[in-house]
Amino acid sequence: MATPISELGEFGLIEHLTKNVKHYHKSTIKGIGDDASVHSIGGNKVEVITNDLLLEGIHFDLTYMPLKHLGYKAVVVNVSDIYAMNATPKRMVLGLGISKKFSVEALNEFYEGILLACKRYNIDFVGGDTSASLTGLTISITVLGDGNADEISYRSGAKEKNLICVSGDLGGAYLGVQILEREKRILKEVGNEKPQLEDHKYAIGRQLKPEARQDIITFFKEKNIVPTAMIDISDGLSSELIHICKQSNVGCRIYEEKIPIALETEQTATKLNLNPLTAAINGGEDYELLFTVDIADYEKIAENPNITIIGHIEDHTTGQFLISKQEEAIPLKAMGWNQLKKDDEEPNDKSSS
Ligand code: ADP
Ligand code: MG
Repeated sequence: MATPISELGEFGLIEHLTKNVKHYHKSTIKGIGDDASVHSIGGNKVEVITNDLLLEGIHFDLTYMPLKHLGYKAVVVNVSDIYAMNATPKRMVLGLGISKKFSVEALNEFYEGILLACKRYNIDFVGGDTSASLTGLTISITVLGDGNADEISYRSGAKEKNLICVSGDLGGAYLGVQILEREKRILKEVGNEKPQLEDHKYAIGRQLKPEARQDIITFFKEKNIVPTAMIDISDGLSSELIHICKQSNVGCRIYEEKIPIALETEQTATKLNLNPLTAAINGGEDYELLFTVDIADYEKIAENPNITIIGHIEDHTTGQFLISKQEEAIPLKAMGWNQLKKDDEEPNDKSSS
């Protein structure tokens, strides 16, 4: 009998499909399983490669996503994966599937966003492929970058007593998409009523105009910090921290009171009657960096106002927990945007990975 994909879930499916993958080049240092693959290009130099696929109706909705923003975001989500390796993005290729509903002018706007992001992140746009599509817009971007072998941060390097850190603040992007979906529904029901977006500018901006954390990577270089493990938050803090813990074979404790949530995010959550902590932990698409550092780096990390220490790594036998304000230990769940697994409780119907 045919096995439904939902039985494996997204991560289970990738694991299943790639279990017979073999490498034929000694220079391939890391293949499937991290934010980007890593290959030696001589001496201490490595190249890193990542790809992200964005599908209309799955990852983005053009009723509220302007094409220019979409182009920009499509580059950002890939750049974020390169930074998550502590590497520098250099080049990209773009595969496009375009259906008949798109005009040349619309595609011009999309390319404006792409080029703006290439300028912002110093990336050479060097190729791609274009095809007709039956099902709206399909975007596949591959970004190549480079770095030093001894400075690459894998998901697998977290050690007991390491500090768990996160850049920026969390939950905004998830609430942004909730607001946009709500306004879309209202617009459908009531017709030409003006959308109420003014009060939620921050959350909407986090969803439509994310940036990748170049400043954090620069800071690491300046301060001679190499995170022991790192991942970018595309699927939600909880899900990404579990990836680090599983691949590093460690446990962790993070503390509710330390999770960085912007005041604007809290206000939007209140308006929507949603829990801001749930948005911060299980929502996705914030594209912040989650990383672990040796305790010896504490003072350097503490002086950066854009980094928050949210907990620490423990022995693998202790599990992965969030300690609530009431000091209750709540097991972390890999909810993420794992939309292929039916019995996962979904925070949203959008996927980012
Ligand atoms: P991210 O969220 O950082 O983009 P993903 O969760 O999409 O990472 O992917 C996890 C890992 O699995 C990555 O190393 C990625 O390259 C790999 N991967 C994803 N899909 C496939 C696939 N269809 N075939 C082979 N490898 C894949
Ligand atoms: Mg990633």
